[in-house]
Amino acid sequence: MLILTPKDEVDESSETHELELGIVGHGPAGLTAALYASRAAISVACIGKDYGGAMGLALEIENYPGFENISGIDLTDKMRAQAEKFGTKIVYGEISAIEKAEGNKFLIKSDMGNYLVKALILATGGRHKELDVPGEKDFIGRGVSYCATCDAPFFKEKTVVVAGSGDAAATGTLALSDVGAKKIYWISRSDYLKCERIYIDREEQRDNIEILFNKQISEIKGTNTVEEILFSDGTSLKADGIFAEIGSLPNNELAIALGVELEEDLIKTDDDCKTNIPGIFAAGDVTSKIKNPLSRQITTSVGLATIAAISAAEYLQARKTMKED
Ligand SMILES: Cc1cc2nc3c(=O)[nH]c(=O)nc-3n(C[C@H](O)[C@H](O)[C@H](O)COP(=O)(O)OP(=O)(O)OC[C@H]3O[C@@H](n4cnc5c(N)ncnc54)[C@H](O)[C@@H]3O)c2cc1C
Repeated sequence: MLILTPKDEVDESSETHELELGIVGHGPAGLTAALYASRAAISVACIGKDYGGAMGLALEIENYPGFENISGIDLTDKMRAQAEKFGTKIVYGEISAIEKAEGNKFLIKSDMGNYLVKALILATGGRHKELDVPGEKDFIGRGVSYCATCDAPFFKEKTVVVAGSGDAAATGTLALSDVGAKKIYWISRSDYLKCERIYIDREEQRDNIEILFNKQISEIKGTNTVEEILFSDGTSLKADGIFAEIGSLPNNELAIALGVELEEDLIKTDDDCKTNIPGIFAAGDVTSKIKNPLSRQITTSVGLATIAAISAAEYLQARKTMKED
């Protein structure tokens, strides 16, 4: 994961900064919420540790409207610049804890200072489960992918391995087949598949998909890009890429510590992106609004962030009206 910490942006002071809104996350949800809130003349700190979040990892994005093709970093740069133009304070740091503070406020503790805020938007995204094998990290974005919906088109006429046995792996292999991958090896660790039957029926109609059972990946090899996948039974496959579709884990730890209610490990929100705790909102991949892994996209995150920012602005306005501040 790329971590960008420009020295001129870093605030190492230990003092506590008071702002109206704290946003956790530099992904598309966090940056979009920051844009909307700062345009509404709210003072905002947007704090995140991975520049662009998951979006920052995408080499090429072809499905964000308005851009035929843009890298995740370039799109992040644009979103960040737009939010900063309206006054968002971007902070590069890791948040270790968020605590409830006096006066219905929240204290965000980060390695780049503390932030006392009246409202919070959690846009902490998720992390893909990793295969945890040698070579995996070396080839992220160069043949190793965690998002078939996003990256399948780059594997036209290529040979790929898809790891996993659930719906994400099933739809991933179909997406690769649809874009014209030459050969797709669908690898299951066990002797069965966990996906819906309808997917298996569809797979059987494709002549470029081969399902292999009881295969445990032990290493990913290559030079500049992926070239070979090794298995623990001593066999191997020549391949141009591997999709690890073995599920994802929401970054829900900060929410849990605050007492925010979860649903299937995701932050539970209502239609206004409110959580069960007044003043705490959530947006993007970490929320229960996006349960289908295939729908975890930049567009959906951006949409939810818009709702969360507008809800947070209304909450802050209501506090003023009620003379709570
Ligand atoms: C390789 C790859 C390619 C992709 N390609 C596409 C594509 O082409 N099109 C598309 O629409 N989608 C694509 N996606 C999916 C898309 O990137 C995600 O759906 C989107 O980024 C989710 O946005 P988000 O803001 O909710 O979360 P994220 O982007 O995951 O951002 C979460 C942010 O929260 C921060 N954070 C979490 N915990 C803490 C903490 N304790 N302290 C500080 N910061 C914290 C993270 O560092 C990160 O900045 C791709 C994903 C990957 C991995």
